[in-house]
Amino acid sequence: MKSRFAPSPTGHLHIGGARTALFAWLWVKKNQGEFVLRIEDTDIDRSSKKFVEDILQGMDWLGLDYEEGPIFQSERIERYKSVISTLISTGKAYYCDCSKERLDSLRQDLRKKGEKPKYDGYCRERELDQGVVRFLNPNEGQVSFEDYVRGEFVFSNSELDDLIIARSDGSPTYNLTVVVDDHDMGIDCVVRGDDHINNTPKQINIYNALGWKLPRFAHVPMILGNDGARLSKRHGAINILSYRDEGILPKALLNYIVRLGWSHGNQELFSIEEMIDLFDLNNINKAPASFDYDKLLWLNQNYIQSVEISEIVSLLQYHLESLSINSLDGPNLKYVIENLRDRSKTLVEMAQGCIMFYKDFDSFDSELAKRLFKEESKPILEDLVGKLNIVDLWTADKIRSVINEICKKQNIGFGKVGQPFRLALSGDGKSGSIDKCAELVGKDRTLSRLKMAINYIESQS
Ligand code: GLU
Repeated sequence: MKSRFAPSPTGHLHIGGARTALFAWLWVKKNQGEFVLRIEDTDIDRSSKKFVEDILQGMDWLGLDYEEGPIFQSERIERYKSVISTLISTGKAYYCDCSKERLDSLRQDLRKKGEKPKYDGYCRERELDQGVVRFLNPNEGQVSFEDYVRGEFVFSNSELDDLIIARSDGSPTYNLTVVVDDHDMGIDCVVRGDDHINNTPKQINIYNALGWKLPRFAHVPMILGNDGARLSKRHGAINILSYRDEGILPKALLNYIVRLGWSHGNQELFSIEEMIDLFDLNNINKAPASFDYDKLLWLNQNYIQSVEISEIVSLLQYHLESLSINSLDGPNLKYVIENLRDRSKTLVEMAQGCIMFYKDFDSFDSELAKRLFKEESKPILEDLVGKLNIVDLWTADKIRSVINEICKKQNIGFGKVGQPFRLALSGDGKSGSIDKCAELVGKDRTLSRLKMAINYIESQS
């Protein structure tokens, strides 16, 4: 069994494309087949290297690996040209030099009569040797296929056009290249967006003209935004890599997109192994699926809390780098992640939470400082410095008992010590439990930040 993902590099890898890729990939894994990544870059004007790079990076980030590829159609032009010549020499394709004016007026006439615009076959018998090349679609009969998702389709040949398979400069068009490639690469299952349904009967006629075996098809429904409109940029992140940049885990995104149009009872969380085991092309919903960002965040939080720490360590590096954090400048990252994972919805939030452990700062959040670094806090902070200074085993337990001791001695609540301490330690007042954070920040850094807070209070008086 062999399937493929065949994106055109005329745009980013987006959610819809990634889902098509995932469905095909899961089907391949389930059937122990092979997966091909093919870049359909024959539309030179609209294709770009940047998008190719995005697609490759996106596939890599999602972990959708392939046995063959990336294969570039632009490197197979000679092969397409030779198939086109075969079709011409066997009378299954022909040159056409109809002018744009003729085609426009033909289209208008048919529209006026309420018929579907279609080429009238004027050049079929003219035996030209230049122009565009059209495939000679059978006049009679029907084309049918059984789609995994949508069931049986029947098209009447009389509705299908003599489609252009080569432009006048000889360059092949999508419907021809896709057939040649799927045949040459031994693809027996084509999974793609349902915007291609109308291309399928045309492609089937080309397969038949060449005497090639047909693959099976699965046309996957589109994805809508939560307002019911087709998913587009205005629904938020559209490039798959922007989910990475927003701190989404690839596993969370895969889990999210597999549920767009596929389900297994009420189950929400699926490991990759479970997806492979349970996924079935026959069980995809026919109706469009809709995208819900809050659900993605919910899944992401779930994964942040449950995946192996080592996985977060490696995924987090990217986000630490973008904040210029060097995780060697402080505590073992594993412990910091352990401390932050319950409070982070995204890896971006987690990386921000890491700042206090790895980077020193030279000012405090001014609003909070005004409120918490008052004259009355000074003796408390001084007491903390004195007592923490003589703690030799720097653990959260010891730090907490120092705080408790000060509260008791000065007869004050925990917050009176904890709040200024937290601000001194974090700079922005955001942190998890103060004793654990101080343990991780380390003794020297904790003491110097407390002294900085005392200096601040002195400078204000
Ligand atoms: N290159 C086509 C697209 O990006 C996909 C064609 C196919 O999968 O057959 O829409």
